[in-house]
Amino acid sequence: GQDQPGQLDQTWPRPDHGEQSYRGHGRLRGRKALVTGGDSGIGRAVAIAFAREGADVAIAHLPEEQGDADETVRLIRDAGREGLSLPGDVRDEAFAAQIVDRTRTGLGGLDILVLNAGYQKDRAGLATLETAEFDRVLRTNLYGLMFTARAAVPHLEAGASIIVTASIQAFQPSPTLIDYAMTKAAQVAFVRALAEELGPAGVRVNAVAPGPIWTPLIPATGWDDQKLNAFGQDTPLGRAGQPAEVAGAYVYLASEEASYVSGAVLPVTGGKPL
Ligand code: NAD
Repeated sequence: GQDQPGQLDQTWPRPDHGEQSYRGHGRLRGRKALVTGGDSGIGRAVAIAFAREGADVAIAHLPEEQGDADETVRLIRDAGREGLSLPGDVRDEAFAAQIVDRTRTGLGGLDILVLNAGYQKDRAGLATLETAEFDRVLRTNLYGLMFTARAAVPHLEAGASIIVTASIQAFQPSPTLIDYAMTKAAQVAFVRALAEELGPAGVRVNAVAPGPIWTPLIPATGWDDQKLNAFGQDTPLGRAGQPAEVAGAYVYLASEEASYVSGAVLPVTGGKPL
């Protein structure tokens, strides 16, 4: 059947974001989540999974991107939960603070924060890396993440969970993603430091490190099917993954089942070690 990940269509442009395959068990019942980058790819799969597990979900996303915020909100509401679309740019400090406030007022709280918005581009080599592009990668992956987390932290209570979408690139950087890999390594340091700061307050902070996953980010990076498939074949499972196959890691880290897990980096890499 279609709910078996091994049988999902593995070719772009038909990634399964969880529309078909993610069934819920109510593990996040009553929780309020904000997912940045929640209209596309991994973030969208996470938003759908959270809703099917019983959470109300706000998604923040770039307004002009190819993601589908309306469709994601529709799927959240189909699960019987409240869904909220927050278009804007997390590189803008004021917007990052706004999405925290609008989640708290719109959903009635915030206890799961998924810092997932990200940007990458394939580079020909360091000598041709433009400063403006370097700036965009750092602004999105580091400043945007920090702005959002900083605005949220004062409102998080014991039991809350922060989850960062890092990457296998933090540990095994590709030369053509040098700037991106730098930010992903920095995100891991951020997670470990913040886990230590917030531990005494009962707030957990973890990272998911995906391997190669079929999302709209792949063609936007400048990669074709062959390139991602080559990364996929280099894993023990021998293939790239689908967004829906990553979402369960976030559900686990957000849930009570992970109540003693903090500062961790959970690989979802098809078996490739970090
Ligand atoms: P995607 O392009 O499908 O989604 C990216 C999302 O981030 C979109 O919703 C976009 O609107 C949002 N976004 C980007 N810049 C933003 C900004 N400045 N302000 C607000 N929102 C912004 O990509 P994806 O593959 O699902 O990527 C999600 C995360 O997963 C990223 O952090 C990426 O680095 C990470 N990741 C992806 C892979 C992969 O193979 N696809 C592997 C490891 C890690």
